[in-house]
Amino acid sequence: MNNNFIKILLVEDDLVDADLLVNLLELVPSIQFDMIHVKRLQEAIARLGGEPFDVVLLDLSLPDSQGVDTVKKMYQRSPTVPIVILSGLEDQSVALQAVQNGAQDYLVKGEFESDLLVRAIRYAIERGKILQLLNQKEKELQKANEELEMRVRIRTEELQKKNVQLQELEVQLREALAKEKELSDLKSRIITTISHEYRTPLTTIASSAELLQVYRHRWDEEKQMKHYRRIKESVKHMTALVDDVLFVNQAEFYKLELQRSPLHLGNFVRELVEDMQAAVGDRPTLNLISKVDGRQVLLDPKLLRQIITNLLSNGIKYSPDGGTVEVKLIGEEERIIVEVSDRGIGIPIEDRKHLFESFRRASNVGTIRGTGLGLSIVKKCIDIHGGQISVESEVGTGTTFTVVLPLQTEEK
Ligand code: ADP
Repeated sequence: MNNNFIKILLVEDDLVDADLLVNLLELVPSIQFDMIHVKRLQEAIARLGGEPFDVVLLDLSLPDSQGVDTVKKMYQRSPTVPIVILSGLEDQSVALQAVQNGAQDYLVKGEFESDLLVRAIRYAIERGKILQLLNQKEKELQKANEELEMRVRIRTEELQKKNVQLQELEVQLREALAKEKELSDLKSRIITTISHEYRTPLTTIASSAELLQVYRHRWDEEKQMKHYRRIKESVKHMTALVDDVLFVNQAEFYKLELQRSPLHLGNFVRELVEDMQAAVGDRPTLNLISKVDGRQVLLDPKLLRQIITNLLSNGIKYSPDGGTVEVKLIGEEERIIVEVSDRGIGIPIEDRKHLFESFRRASNVGTIRGTGLGLSIVKKCIDIHGGQISVESEVGTGTTFTVVLPLQTEEK
């Protein structure tokens, strides 16, 4: 805006007042006023939308609008154009309200000369500029704020994502650590078991061999044979141990092969039980209850032998007071059930969870020897048949293992 050129929108329905105002402005030769005069608020609003004005001179009592409402509507239409109210003497309080609602200043009609009018116009324009500047700054600030909020939001989202990733990593790390601990526990169980289980037969072999070397000339044949037998038994025990370790290794790292062949279940189990009874003498008594028909069934005899001998020898081993170990064989249409029960030491409940893992032993075994491999072998042989094993036990009373194997008859 040129300081010597001011474009005014005069909103005044009283023609006398409007003329008076024009006359007053004509008395100021240093400024060129370009004045558009309208009589109604609607016209004024329409004009404001169409062209730029430096200031609005506004009468509050118009035919289509009265009082503070008039200024509110004008201000709403164009908040950056300064407004000077023209009020009657009696309307001054309304004029003041108008100033509170967006007008820059007010003049009381008939109370001002041209210099006061020009000063009010100039002040209004200057204040309007300042307000405009403030407005602009406020908008800039608001924009900056919004950008900042947006950045904070994005950053927060990124951080939340990172946090989730971190939590996932933590879980993975914990799992890896747990796995490593499990592996290291397993390693130490293997070392402890193998060294412990090997030491006894090795000591026996060493001592018997040495005794034979020194005394064999002085001993009769029976005494010599006793030590040869000891050596043979120890070697057998160690071979069985190695076989177990190799079996578990084969099952864990290479696939076990299931080789089904037809067998008479009743005969097969009876022979096994009889062989074991012969091996242990008469304590404990092994009792077979067989409820199978004469059908031939397709099972892997090698793996079935592993299942039954391991369960049976455990029943014998963990019944230090002898008694009876019972094998119950039940043949159903589509499955067979083998139950091995003893009245031995039982298995504490907290140890049952890991019982079928390699090198795991219960806490109550005391001096009874073992490697913790038998049940893991049993489980693997059952799994490959698609069967299941469960255990019921009470410490000090006895244990029953129940094996269920789905059956494939020869005709199928
Ligand atoms: P082990 O060579 O130690 O007998 P197993 O794998 O056969 O190994 O058995 C694992 C553990 O389960 C045993 O060490 C023992 O604590 C427990 N257990 C297995 N069978 C019996 C049973 N019949 N009575 C009591 N405890 C048993």
